Amino acid sequence: MKAAVLYEINTPLKIEEFDLPDTGPNQVRVRIIASGVCHSDWHVVKGDWPHIPIPSILGHEGAGIVEEVGSQVSGVREGDHVILSWKRSCGYCEMCQKGFPTLCELPPDTSTLPRFPGEQRTMEKMAGLGTFGTHALVPQDAVVSIDKDMPFAQAALIGCGVMTGVGAAINTAQVQQGSSVAVFGCGGVGLNCIQGAAIAGAEPIIAVDVRDNKLEMAKRFGATDTVNASKEDAVARIQELSGGPGVHYAFEAIGVTGEPFLQAIQCTRRRGITVFVGHAPEGTPVALDARMLMHEKTVIGSYYGSARPHVDFSRLIRLYKAGKLNLDELVTRTYPLEGVNEAFEALGRGEVARSVLMFD
Ligand SMILES: [Zn+2]
Ligand SMILES: [Zn+2]
Repeated sequence: MKAAVLYEINTPLKIEEFDLPDTGPNQVRVRIIASGVCHSDWHVVKGDWPHIPIPSILGHEGAGIVEEVGSQVSGVREGDHVILSWKRSCGYCEMCQKGFPTLCELPPDTSTLPRFPGEQRTMEKMAGLGTFGTHALVPQDAVVSIDKDMPFAQAALIGCGVMTGVGAAINTAQVQQGSSVAVFGCGGVGLNCIQGAAIAGAEPIIAVDVRDNKLEMAKRFGATDTVNASKEDAVARIQELSGGPGVHYAFEAIGVTGEPFLQAIQCTRRRGITVFVGHAPEGTPVALDARMLMHEKTVIGSYYGSARPHVDFSRLIRLYKAGKLNLDELVTRTYPLEGVNEAFEALGRGEVARSVLMFD
């Protein structure tokens, strides 16, 4: 197999050859067809997330075809088309049993790591997947079978950005019909918070960003109003658009600094919910005036959109097929595996909703 490896932070990824270990009884070998280039991969490249070990094969938003299944695998067969889930779940712990499998504490399976050719030395892979590679060996709980008529690039995005954004709105926050919503940040995740809010029937849906090209895109994903935070006071404008008291739900989908997070709390109305979706760099402090929460506001984190991958991935595919979930316009550009560094540059410049690496 070939895969793109990050050896040191802020350096280009290198394409290398690896061998996969034999497929274990509960494991599945997937030929990756499409892999989204997610902001989380970019965080690792920039050194924002020292908890992810490097060197490592990056990529965690993938879809492909099952090539081989272990002897104990059930529910997925050779030839199945699958989306990979980057968070394992045991099925038995409190969080799994309560319906929050992405909060399961089961660590990635280290027996699936690729090896350098002819050596025992292994290579780490992001989130236990490493989808910037032509193949991935994964535990069976990390694959979800999908309809064969689903295009791979669009399917791959469900594996992280779409699930994270739409799930934050419809699962974590459970946005109610007719309620007001503001979304800070119109990147891959923010656009999906917006369309999740639209699916839930919210109105208005106010998109906030500092780039006009992203705000234009937000309108095509269901935003009813846009605010350019570099040109106007975002909090004041959101309060005005919501008729005075602020929005019922505000989503922070940037994860860069504390400022938009505070603005998201400030523009949330009394008893409203602020959802922290963006994955900030480790050690990002947020200084909060304690009185900000006095009027019974709730601040909640959202992890992987509170996903139940085996339920929600197919639900998102149904919404896509019904014309209610816009995945086609998220796939802004495609690149071969060798174009991975170019894809990161486009992401860094804010040019794309999503770039997708496509392997033959
Ligand atoms: Zn991601
Ligand atoms: Zn569990």
